[in-house]
Amino acid sequence: MSEIINLFKNKLLEKVNIQKISSSGWYIFNAVCCPYHGNERPDRRKRGNFYFTENSWVYNCFNCGFKTVFSENNLVLTERNKKLLEWMGFSQEEINEISFSLLKRKNLEQKNSNNPKDEYFNFFDYIKTLNPTEKEEEMVSIEEYLDRQDYKENKNFMKILDYLFSRGSYIVDCLDKIYWVESSPDMIVLPIFIKNKIYGYIMRNLNKSIKYMNIFFDNKNLLYNLDSAFKNRKYIILVEGPFDALSIDGISIMKNTINNNIIKMLKSFNKEIIILPDKDISGLKVIEKALEHNLRVSFPFFDYWDEKIKDASDAAKKYGKFYTLNSIIRSSTDDPLKIKTLTNLLKNEMISNLED
Ligand SMILES: [Zn+2]
Repeated sequence: MSEIINLFKNKLLEKVNIQKISSSGWYIFNAVCCPYHGNERPDRRKRGNFYFTENSWVYNCFNCGFKTVFSENNLVLTERNKKLLEWMGFSQEEINEISFSLLKRKNLEQKNSNNPKDEYFNFFDYIKTLNPTEKEEEMVSIEEYLDRQDYKENKNFMKILDYLFSRGSYIVDCLDKIYWVESSPDMIVLPIFIKNKIYGYIMRNLNKSIKYMNIFFDNKNLLYNLDSAFKNRKYIILVEGPFDALSIDGISIMKNTINNNIIKMLKSFNKEIIILPDKDISGLKVIEKALEHNLRVSFPFFDYWDEKIKDASDAAKKYGKFYTLNSIIRSSTDDPLKIKTLTNLLKNEMISNLED
């Protein structure tokens, strides 16, 4: 562990009452965030967690969903970092002092290095730089849980199961990739697996308006279901949400993760990359990115899908996995003019749906 993270670790753990350290290294205590972050009552069920890696720390609350990451790559306290420190009882002076020492460190590092920023040409090299984590003891895949004889007696589990099956029958094929934690019964956990190792989690609380919460160790950009790129296939299909990825065995970009380096690494697979935007505002941004990087964009919305269908997961629910996949591939194009024209059509349809 780096000097800075070690220093942080000592300071942070001093302020909370650690109840337990999980076998995979999570420090567990009563969360400090909830009353400040939309929950009426403070946490009494040890839903707060710290996790430390070589060059980052993560705070995560399973109660109200607050999460923040500090990464040595940035060497600054983010606003969320600062909030957390405040809630933990650090004084303004202490926080300023930490900020200042990080700043000093940053200046020093900039002087000492002329190296360009981390750049990798393929995912194999990139993944080697990341630290995987162990699976949490408490986490059980839906598939494993279904093997228990008494699973029907757990009402919370049955609720999760109902929710999952309401997403479409494709879910049957992915029950080994979806996890559940009995002590956080409203939460679905999608570990970010790469070659059977876990590099982060996507969590979804069914009762909260915040749809997804992503936790990456090392605070690096990763894609969900990246393993599908390693398969022997002609196409890599990029979609927005994790359930879209599950529905067609594509890769979820999980918002804002399409940067030059990620695209370069995806291109190193030497496959045709197709992006399927959601039929909504975020989808328009995704199309912009695709145009920037000369990727194929798919528009199955007009010729193949019912107009109410917004994404791959909706389509797979209605038409099944193979029709959906086929329609995504067949309606894709790399002609920029065609992409722009179809994007305008999509916009018009979205506007007229708003007016209905
Ligand atoms: Zn909280």
